[in-house]
Amino acid sequence: MVSWSEDSSSDNSLPRDYSDVCPDWLYDSDFPGEEEEIRCHHGLRGSRRVARGGEHTGRRYIGCSNIIQDCGFVHWVDPEWPNPMKKRLLHLWSNHEMGQNCQREIEKAGMMDAERRKAMEEKMKAEQLFFKAVEDKNIAEFALRKAEEERKKAEEMKMQLELQLADIETESKLKVKWLRQLVLQKERCLMYVGGVVLLLLGFVLAVVVEKNYV
Ligand SMILES: [Zn+2]
Repeated sequence: MVSWSEDSSSDNSLPRDYSDVCPDWLYDSDFPGEEEEIRCHHGLRGSRRVARGGEHTGRRYIGCSNIIQDCGFVHWVDPEWPNPMKKRLLHLWSNHEMGQNCQREIEKAGMMDAERRKAMEEKMKAEQLFFKAVEDKNIAEFALRKAEEERKKAEEMKMQLELQLADIETESKLKVKWLRQLVLQKERCLMYVGGVVLLLLGFVLAVVVEKNYV
């Protein structure tokens, strides 16, 4: 599969191992820059890269230099690793991915725990608001009952005042009636006295007339 050889590397020519299976990769300062001679499917100068991950880890290759729309061009520079090396690399990457998965699970559990704590805090806040609302309701009901009692007291006081006013009016009417009767009696008395005086005067006059004619 790989045609790269000691001879080809010694004359600085590149191997002719093409593949369209583009591995993960990274830039390496020991293998920098671009290849003028090797062009990708875009016709662009090949980008020097080092494979990262899986059985190709560490293998140098020439890839597409268009990072945004990689055409998948792969030109291996290094030969395939021996099978024991590939297995070891796969095992290491498997452990690495398991570690990453564990880390993600730990972070996820941490986030869930944080969300659970946040939900608990929100529940406690909601409960506090509920208890405060109940307390406010009890205070409002107490104030309403007190206001109702005050209203009833005011109503009773009003009725008492109305009764007192009615008594006063009745008493006033009785007094007015009594005063009118008193005035009437006084007038009758004056008329009686006047009649007596007239009778006396008549009697005196009769006596005087009788003495003068006798
Ligand atoms: Zn390309």
